[in-house]
Amino acid sequence: MRPILILFLLAGSQLLSAQDSALLAQKKVLKLMGCRFELTAVAQTEQQAWDAINAGIAEIQRIENLISSWDKHSQTSKINFNAGLNPVQVDKELYDLIYRAEKVAQLTEGAFDISFASMDRIWKFDGSMVEMPSREEVNKAKSKINWQDIVLNRKDQTVFLKNKGMRIGFGAIGKGYAANRAKTIMSNMEGINGGLVNASGDLIAWGLNHDKKDWLVNITNPKDKEQALGWLRINGLSVVTSGNYERFVEFEGTRYAHIIDPRTGYPTTGIKSVTLVGPDAELADALATSVFVLGCEKGLELVNKLERTECLIVTDQDEILTSTNLKLNYF
Ligand code: ADP
Ligand code: MG
Repeated sequence: MRPILILFLLAGSQLLSAQDSALLAQKKVLKLMGCRFELTAVAQTEQQAWDAINAGIAEIQRIENLISSWDKHSQTSKINFNAGLNPVQVDKELYDLIYRAEKVAQLTEGAFDISFASMDRIWKFDGSMVEMPSREEVNKAKSKINWQDIVLNRKDQTVFLKNKGMRIGFGAIGKGYAANRAKTIMSNMEGINGGLVNASGDLIAWGLNHDKKDWLVNITNPKDKEQALGWLRINGLSVVTSGNYERFVEFEGTRYAHIIDPRTGYPTTGIKSVTLVGPDAELADALATSVFVLGCEKGLELVNKLERTECLIVTDQDEILTSTNLKLNYF
């Protein structure tokens, strides 16, 4: 997914605002974890802002090295290589991330499942697919998906994928986790009054912007990325959007999103985008993906049960559905 959320009130890397004890915002846009990141820091001096941005970038790169399943030297790849063979000892950080991913799998009754990754061999969302995979192929890969076969041993700090061919991947939770961590590191730096980390539409903002006001974020219209559906005022909240308009495949007029329904082994259909609002970017990221799989009714039912968590869904028919307490502002 790409920037579904367009930020405004920020004007790039410029000195902004000149009132008493003026604050300034600095922003850096760069590619991290294979996608577009924007890091913004609000401080009294340029140096403080840049120090925070650079620390945030270093933290995201560190996380990428840990969780990437493309880098064959990462701990995640080691877990995947050892599927059906051996438990792999990992850093506490990775262990805990997998533990939390299992909690989301439990909460969503398996709609969210990091072991979806065995499907990477079957479904490609980069434009290279020319025909539907056969049902046999899908079923074979699907038989490797089951979060309950990710065996965690806290004492030894090991992760074991029970079956050969099983794989895990953090595509639906990693960017949210990285955004959370970058926020934590940046907000603890000297002189930082606020900031915003936007990982291709998975966004967390804290403190105040350079105008000493809350952050305003647009929610993009999945029909036209240049247009906004509305906007939200946020402080200390994350706004995370998953969409089907960047990475997808189409067969016989049906568009399949790059999110796999673990129950069927097929990519999800019927929803164009899901925006999740909540205090934690990692959970919001995981839940946005989950709502795609659960569908509108069950997805909203789940979100309505969770505290301080709201959701907006745009269906294939361009219907907009929201959770009970979402207050979207319109232009
Ligand atoms: P985006 O990458 O657009 O932000 P998501 O956060 O929804 O979107 O993540 C989608 C990615 O999550 C997929 O590309 C894949 O790597 C992974 N994924 C697909 N299906 C599932 C699933 N059922 N559970 C967990 N992760 C999934
Ligand atoms: Mg996600």
